[in-house]
Amino acid sequence: MLEVKPEFLEQMKLSEEFNASACINCGTCTALCPMEIGLLPRHLFRYVLMGIEEKVIENTENIYSCLLCKMCEDNCPAGVHIAENVRALRSYLNETVYRL
Ligand code: SF4
Ligand code: SF4
Repeated sequence: MLEVKPEFLEQMKLSEEFNASACINCGTCTALCPMEIGLLPRHLFRYVLMGIEEKVIENTENIYSCLLCKMCEDNCPAGVHIAENVRALRSYLNETVYRL
């Protein structure tokens, strides 16, 4: 059973703007990603919006595999700040989970 942590979303919002709710799930980002990261942002960002931290931790490798190239973001019809959102996830993992 997945645990919902409302404070997780609060912490994400505090660190940076997280506009993942604008996503219309079109799949363009998945099709264009050179790293074939199909999870970002359509699934993983949704988990964030739902406050499910464990799914973010589970996908640490994917989060750090992103090149921040913005191939996805530049072609996103909904204007989702994908690269910034990935940075926000990294900041959260660094500071809150791994205490780096
Ligand atoms: S391209 Fe934009 S709107 Fe489409 S799935 Fe990716 S983030 Fe969502
Ligand atoms: S910014 Fe990251 S998720 Fe987006 S296309 Fe580049 S590698 Fe893939």
